Amino acid sequence: MPEYALDSSATVKDLRRRIGDLSLRLRTSGTQTKPAEPRFVDYDLIRLPNGDVAGRKKVIIMSGGCSVPTCTMCPFTNLNNYGINGATSHDSLLDQVRRTVVRTEGEPSYQVLSLYNDGSFFAPREIPRDVQVEIARLVAAAGVKRLVVESLPQFVTEPVLAPFVRALGKVRLEIGIGLQSADVLVRETLVNTRISQVSFERALTVMASLGVDPKIYLMVKPPFLTDGEAVTDVVQSVDYLAGLGVQGMTLCPTRVSRNTVAWELWQAGQYTPPNLWTVVEAIRRVHQRLAVRVACVNLRGTDFESVFPDACPLCADRVVDALMRFGETGEADDLPEDCACRPPVEVTGLDHAAITTRAARQLAVLERSGV
Ligand code: SF4
Ligand SMILES: [Zn+2]
Repeated sequence: MPEYALDSSATVKDLRRRIGDLSLRLRTSGTQTKPAEPRFVDYDLIRLPNGDVAGRKKVIIMSGGCSVPTCTMCPFTNLNNYGINGATSHDSLLDQVRRTVVRTEGEPSYQVLSLYNDGSFFAPREIPRDVQVEIARLVAAAGVKRLVVESLPQFVTEPVLAPFVRALGKVRLEIGIGLQSADVLVRETLVNTRISQVSFERALTVMASLGVDPKIYLMVKPPFLTDGEAVTDVVQSVDYLAGLGVQGMTLCPTRVSRNTVAWELWQAGQYTPPNLWTVVEAIRRVHQRLAVRVACVNLRGTDFESVFPDACPLCADRVVDALMRFGETGEADDLPEDCACRPPVEVTGLDHAAITTRAARQLAVLERSGV
């Protein structure tokens, strides 16, 4: 019997629960309450769906964090007041938004406001309904043209979204949803996010009926997958989204951050972030099949504690630049030339039985080492 053989009683459901439990156990935000002010503010230029370039202000407000933080790669709960009771009041959320939309002298001009809360904007446990609507009023009064928030799809329902959209008036709304993968095993067990296909498709329908734009995030190589499987996962997921008529898709190659399952797997030699050439391969295949434009985020960071997708020192910067350019132009010619370091990627199908066995073995490695 191999050392980490799959226990015969282990099922996907059991695996999902154990991975989710571990993810929650690893969460820590410390015991010190962080100040009631946005933990991130930045200005840049982005391309709108109609091709225009617009100034954007991106703000992450200090909050109590995600109310379902089971995802195996997500480090957000380390950065806010997650788990610290009463650390973030509703008044503080509103106050932070009030201060965010006041135009100060010398501030770069912007038409787009991305307002993130390290979780789901429409989850009532994270932002109560009346606070959500009040935020919409503040944003509408501030002369912003487009508001971007993020949410799990189960919170995006008609009774919640309709009053919010009404209060926004002329401001166009975009909701980012981290579907991560169209494959149920990858999404619900390996990424361990709480998104069902039914709730996702319902949310898209509600958004379409209210004139709200979706932006869907897909992961490249979630924990427990190989680079070869990751390519298939991306292609199948983009295929699924294109079939639903979704235009705005963004790929997020996994980065490995502390206090996550991904970090522990990496420490134990059971996982590495995707090679940058795997990302290139996935994009090439998506482009050939569907001519869908995908952008990439997460390729570089100023966060020295995280491990980002990489290649060799000779090509890594070149590949990242090329991927960013491709996100802008959608031209295959902008994808990078080859490099001697590019590992052969054997693109394989998603064999659920094999993936489940491997994930159980890798999880057992962590459990045995007392993680
Ligand atoms: S739902 Fe979003 S914020 Fe919450 S743990 Fe998952 S990725 Fe992080
Ligand atoms: Zn190289």
